[in-house]
Amino acid sequence: MEKRQIILIPGPTAVPSRVLRAMGAPAINHRGPEFRELIVEVTAGLKQVYQTANDVLILTASGTGGMEAAVANFLSPGDKALVVSIGSFGDRFVKICRAFGVEAEILAYEWGQAANPQDVADRLAADTAHKIKAVLVQQNETSTGVLNDIQAIAAARGDHPALLIVDAISGLVAAELLTDAWGLDVVISGSQKAFMIPPGLAMVSVSPRAWEAAEKCTNSRYYFDLKEAKKFLEKGETPFTPAVSVLFGLRESLRMLADEGLAAAQERHALYRDMVRSGVRALDLELLADDAAASPAVTAVKVPAGLTPKDITGPLRERFGIVIAGGQGKLSDKIFRIGHLGYVQPTDILATFAALEMILAERGLPVQSGQAVAAAEEVLAGGI
Ligand SMILES: *Cc1c(COP(=O)(O)O)cnc(C)c1O
Repeated sequence: MEKRQIILIPGPTAVPSRVLRAMGAPAINHRGPEFRELIVEVTAGLKQVYQTANDVLILTASGTGGMEAAVANFLSPGDKALVVSIGSFGDRFVKICRAFGVEAEILAYEWGQAANPQDVADRLAADTAHKIKAVLVQQNETSTGVLNDIQAIAAARGDHPALLIVDAISGLVAAELLTDAWGLDVVISGSQKAFMIPPGLAMVSVSPRAWEAAEKCTNSRYYFDLKEAKKFLEKGETPFTPAVSVLFGLRESLRMLADEGLAAAQERHALYRDMVRSGVRALDLELLADDAAASPAVTAVKVPAGLTPKDITGPLRERFGIVIAGGQGKLSDKIFRIGHLGYVQPTDILATFAALEMILAERGLPVQSGQAVAAAEEVLAGGI
């Protein structure tokens, strides 16, 4: 029999049936009044989620398109950027900078660690000539399951004029992020993460300071020209044909999030995080990230000695229909990752641990049936 999958990867995430139904709506003219209404509602909803009065632009692209737009619109060839890298997505920012002629100075941390805001403060304080034009950082590093302290990193700029560009693609909605209160200049998100809709959209907020930088930016861009996107948004359109169906889905998911409340959505993600970490500990497996920096969106677990990530992810998918992720980059054969962002039910997590217990016990690990499920249940019982 075909298995109904439980998909617990850090994007794309499961999609609620309300969103799926909304996405099945008939086509509309993307230069007509129905689209104008759609983009006006969605943009207002995004501003709520972003906690911002800044412009929020919607691009038809995966999240990386939003990252590319953030480099190509605000940094010029020859500019220097301080890229804070705590994992694979930090390294992606470095590659994008280099592709656009931007000199990336890397502030790197061991994978599994969060960035130390004091290091950013020290580096910027030493840059008295203000050569660094922007600081680029992930809110949530998906490859390691580590949440950076964006509020502290923002404060670490002090009086330095560098823009702060935040990849919040897997962090937004799952963790608190206050674009305006924290002074974040550019914040990137993506549809297929905690927004619980399919891939296809990248969202980018732009502060007035960032728009000033855009005026002076000499980098090449065409499809991802954010000034064009802003001009078109003013008349309720996008420069090019947008992914209209995904936007229908986004409208529905934003309505769902408004009903739930942003704080409640974040508490829900924190509960999933705690359930997962507790279950992992009960299995006597090692977590990659410390509690203090633990991501509410994804948890990375070290693979026990003698096993590979595939020994776990393979049987989970084939025998139980549960899809989790392996590692990325240099951690690809060292960890597996349980995504717990977006449309996740607590019972998805309990089912995952029940299956994990069986798989690990069959592999000869000293796992008692029910021990991880009980630990996760205990957290759940305390949290609802
Ligand atoms: C998913 C993700 C991206 C974007 O990946 P795409 O595959 O281009 O959507 C970027 N940064 C982070 C932190 C992510 O989790």
